[in-house]
Amino acid sequence: MIEFHDVNKYYGKFKALKNINLTIERGEVVTIIGPSGSGKSTLLRTINGLELISSGQLLVDNHDLADPKTDMNRIRKNVGMVFQHFNLYANKTILQNITLGPEKVLKMSHVKAAEDAERLLSLVGLLDQAQKLPSMLSGGQKQRIAIARALAMHPKAILFDEPTSALDPEVIGDVLEVMKKVADQGMTMIVVTHEMGFAKEVGNRLVFMADGEIREDSNDPRAFFEAPKDPRAQEFLGKII
Ligand code: ATP
Ligand code: MG
Repeated sequence: MIEFHDVNKYYGKFKALKNINLTIERGEVVTIIGPSGSGKSTLLRTINGLELISSGQLLVDNHDLADPKTDMNRIRKNVGMVFQHFNLYANKTILQNITLGPEKVLKMSHVKAAEDAERLLSLVGLLDQAQKLPSMLSGGQKQRIAIARALAMHPKAILFDEPTSALDPEVIGDVLEVMKKVADQGMTMIVVTHEMGFAKEVGNRLVFMADGEIREDSNDPRAFFEAPKDPRAQEFLGKII
């Protein structure tokens, strides 16, 4: 579903991604961890074209992102994104936040989009908030809405960039629980996170990055946390656990 082949990304002379090789199959839940500045967000943002790669090849759903014939709008429709700071539309109700994309981009009827939105609001446990504005919700509730909004586009994969980092500790669990539900439904997910519990228990693949490189890529997150092989990973885990 997502394939990086020898991908490099420069910002001027600075190399933010170095020779990235990574293939993610449909239904995988991949968590990406690593120190600040290691290139986690950059890697995520290349997948939906928010950042362009400098060299190598990146395929998303078999489309080469460097090919001018690739329709980036279609890629973005198929790859949802959930950000640290929610990015909800402030002057739209919760329901409208969810129905806007399906109506405008997918040309779904208002009735169908609203039905879908209600189903998703139930999934994230916020059906009773449908008519409120985002400003009336807590951070954790806003993030659950952002996840519902991403799901409403029926994406093939969802990217999460530190979805719980801006939240109060007591609401982080609610958001992680929703993410687990989404994972259990078989969604392909790539999650940059500091939540090691989520990485260990929900993720089925663990990628550790440092200095723009993938230093460790494990199909057994539990084993990784018990005995990381890369010295930088050992140091990183030593600091946070
Ligand atoms: P964090 O955990 O702090 O979010 P990260 O692993 O997500 O870090 P990135 O945001 O991907 O790291 O950044 C990787 C490196 O690229 C950093 O050194 C950063 O300063 C640099 N960088 C990121 N975006 C830009 C940009 N637009 N222009 C120049 N340098 C950038
Ligand atoms: Mg980041």
